[in-house]
Amino acid sequence: MHKILVIEDERDIADLIGFNLQRAGYSVIKAHDGLTGTEVAMKERPDLIVLDLMLPGRDGYGVFRELRRDPRSVSIPVIMLTARAQTEDRIQGLEAGADDYLTKPFSPKELMLRVQAVLKRSDAPPGSVDFSHGPFRFDKNALKFYLEGEPVDLTATEFKLLLFLCERAGKQQDRNDLLRTVWGYSDEVHSRTLDTHMKRLRQKLGPHGALIETVRGIGYCVATVSE
Ligand code: CA
Repeated sequence: MHKILVIEDERDIADLIGFNLQRAGYSVIKAHDGLTGTEVAMKERPDLIVLDLMLPGRDGYGVFRELRRDPRSVSIPVIMLTARAQTEDRIQGLEAGADDYLTKPFSPKELMLRVQAVLKRSDAPPGSVDFSHGPFRFDKNALKFYLEGEPVDLTATEFKLLLFLCERAGKQQDRNDLLRTVWGYSDEVHSRTLDTHMKRLRQKLGPHGALIETVRGIGYCVATVSE
């Protein structure tokens, strides 16, 4: 059973989210402020975190930065909750590397779709084996990634994105195909997210980040390598 941590100070909303997640078969933990939320995340290591941005004490961005800094929580997927008026918040959240976002008010159905899509990304694909491409090795069972034999922390989204490109090395991948494959849908905000994820991936890959090529007007391509 997947365990989901909901960090939201408005108890009505936290309860509503918790209720719907539990009804869908997930195990739910709740925290009502940023500091507690961060501590619970480290201790419980949930499979997914639903994180509200407006929190007392440490706000959602602060929590998110902390989560991404700590090896215990660096790869836990995060769905951010933002208020409708705060478009900039949403964009900032995605650029900070959140896996997805939901705008309040949202329907339980929307929430479930996002949760399922994000969790699906973190689950090991069937018939898993290792896959290697040049200096990259993907352990599909454990969702672990190695660069020249050294483990590198990738989020589930980054892992899936890079694996998808490497398995199709030498072939240009259309942005919309990438978005639909990895996020499950393609729209303008997610399109920006794709570029942010690519930027972060390249940073994590150091000099090997150059293997990811931007194909202007189309999308991305991972270069072939001679074995
Ligand atoms: Ca709040």
